[in-house]
Amino acid sequence: MKNRSAAGALSIGAATDVGRVRTGNEDAFIAEPMVVGVADGMGGHQAGEVASAIAVQKMLEHLGGGATSVQSAEAAVVDANTAIFNGARNNAGQRGMGTTLTAMIVLADGAEGDTTRRFVLLNVGDSRTYRFRGGRLRRVTVDHSYVQELVSTGHITEVEARSHPRRNIVTRALGIEATIRVDTWVMPFVKGDRYLLCSDGLVDEVDDAEIAEVMAAHRDAQSAAQALVDAANTHGGRDNVTVVVVDVLDGDVASDDTADLDLDLVWSDLPNGDGTGNGSGDGIDADAEPTAATPDRGPITEEIPITQSGLSAPRKRFGFGTLVFWFGIAAIIIGAVTLVLAVRHNADSDPDPVPTTTSTTVATSTSTTTRPSTTVAASTAPAPTVP
Ligand code: MG
Repeated sequence: MKNRSAAGALSIGAATDVGRVRTGNEDAFIAEPMVVGVADGMGGHQAGEVASAIAVQKMLEHLGGGATSVQSAEAAVVDANTAIFNGARNNAGQRGMGTTLTAMIVLADGAEGDTTRRFVLLNVGDSRTYRFRGGRLRRVTVDHSYVQELVSTGHITEVEARSHPRRNIVTRALGIEATIRVDTWVMPFVKGDRYLLCSDGLVDEVDDAEIAEVMAAHRDAQSAAQALVDAANTHGGRDNVTVVVVDVLDGDVASDDTADLDLDLVWSDLPNGDGTGNGSGDGIDADAEPTAATPDRGPITEEIPITQSGLSAPRKRFGFGTLVFWFGIAAIIIGAVTLVLAVRHNADSDPDPVPTTTSTTVATSTSTTTRPSTTVAASTAPAPTVP
């Protein structure tokens, strides 16, 4: 089916900045008429830049003309995941690279004559998509992060999460595993809605209230995007910051500007080929308070899959403690083996009961032993003739 062009129905602005601390920008973004997105790369030695660039390139390649179905949009993410995963596996300098991705794609899967326009929203990781309607900012996506797990299970509050020392740890990202799970929503075009897609470099520096103020103060999408990047830098700019703002100029009229989001998370089987899809028919209210029972979210485990490159050094999949543990085990095994060999060696060193007269040295050494018996006999044997 031919995609209807969204040209004229959307106004898109985008801005990115390296920030005030870091030397390279590992963020990437898409700001095309039919697809927008933000990717926040992670991994040392510029590998994060490679990962986010691959994600953006794959989205453009598959979805530059929009999505014909939710599945086609998800398939693009799966392809991006595979490309990054294989790149990391085949290049030693890019091992462990990954990226977040949040993206909105214009969906055109209706029957002929159906003028309803909708978006597919995809999310993996802790970059975010917000909706701004009637002066009210609401987050649509749910972070795949360690601190989100803590918030969801009631251990910390959203406010505490913003300054938590482990807030850079993400629990899901493209390129880390051979397969990927994607959170997916489908939303209508509603005239007057504004969407904000951003990396964590914005939300770690600027709270939601200030984001809403900036969004309200700038009617133009591009100036709003730039103003948000500037705000992040004003607050410290400790990370790369990337913002995409999408204004919906045409579409349905919202029945209630202050209505809560009523978006259902779409569950579908991803074409990972190994049954690791999201499942089916098990919708989740995206606006509901997150709970520990949310099936989308994995349990907190000792082994955190990856670390987002951010304020702290990238975290290895095997920590220092694990290394020390295995070194200790190895030392114990080596010590035990050495002890056994030493005991056996000593046993073997005992003089042969048969006086074979190997050398004068042996005769001398056996004389020092405290053991009686045959050793003595050997030592008393006539000294060999040394040629
Ligand atoms: Mg970041």
